[in-house]
Amino acid sequence: MMGPAHSLSGAAAWLGVGAVAAGLGHPMPWPTVLVGALICAGAALAPDLDHQAATISRAFGPLSRALCRVVDRLAHATYKATRKPGDPRRAGGHRTLTHTWLWAVLVGAGFSAAAVYGGRWAVLVILFIHMVLAVEGLLWRQARMSSDVLVWLLGATSAWMLADVLDDPGNGKDWLFTQPGQHYLWIGLPIVLGSLVHCIGDALTVSGCPVLWPIPIGRRRWYPVGPPRFMRFRAGSWVEIKVLTPVFFLVGGGCALGALGVIG
Ligand SMILES: [Zn+2]
Repeated sequence: MMGPAHSLSGAAAWLGVGAVAAGLGHPMPWPTVLVGALICAGAALAPDLDHQAATISRAFGPLSRALCRVVDRLAHATYKATRKPGDPRRAGGHRTLTHTWLWAVLVGAGFSAAAVYGGRWAVLVILFIHMVLAVEGLLWRQARMSSDVLVWLLGATSAWMLADVLDDPGNGKDWLFTQPGQHYLWIGLPIVLGSLVHCIGDALTVSGCPVLWPIPIGRRRWYPVGPPRFMRFRAGSWVEIKVLTPVFFLVGGGCALGALGVIG
């Protein structure tokens, strides 16, 4: 899938979590609904940090381009080191390490730890990264036409404002994890979810996604999980734009109403 569909599906997925959480008696305060949806929309672009042409690899200028090269090498090395006889040889790391459940969990846990132990500045940095990505994903065309600096400014101001809102008592910094010292622990959840939703999106497009690594399946450890071939579609095809995108909008909107206690 392309950036907008990845981001929209990420946002919708978090709104779905919000609706389920409300149903289970852990309703999110509205800032947690909003910020989580935006983080998840941003995180849903993150696995493509292993590809130079991806939005995320260009989103932060030379910094993300350098990180992209490191991640691509790390992914390729991991692929070579862990592949079984059934896994084909390959030249680069795209759609390998960063497209697995283990990577999603590790990255989410890392950001949660940073938020819990790093204080306000860590939260601001996490919000900034994901707000910039959310803008790139959700406002795809507009972000393409404006300069990087404008997108960064928008990311920085929204991160600053949202951090203030979240920090007020009762506004969601202690959602789900209520003990002292657990503020912002939840922030890794939309990050894990965004990564997984990205993998599902990729699995639906032609080549599948090795999301189960390192769990071996037959003679492969990098098994490309996906639906039967006739159900797959090309990234950027009419199915994605005319069918899935409106569905994500509707489902996300419905779930938002549930998450905020308007319905249900
Ligand atoms: Zn991908």
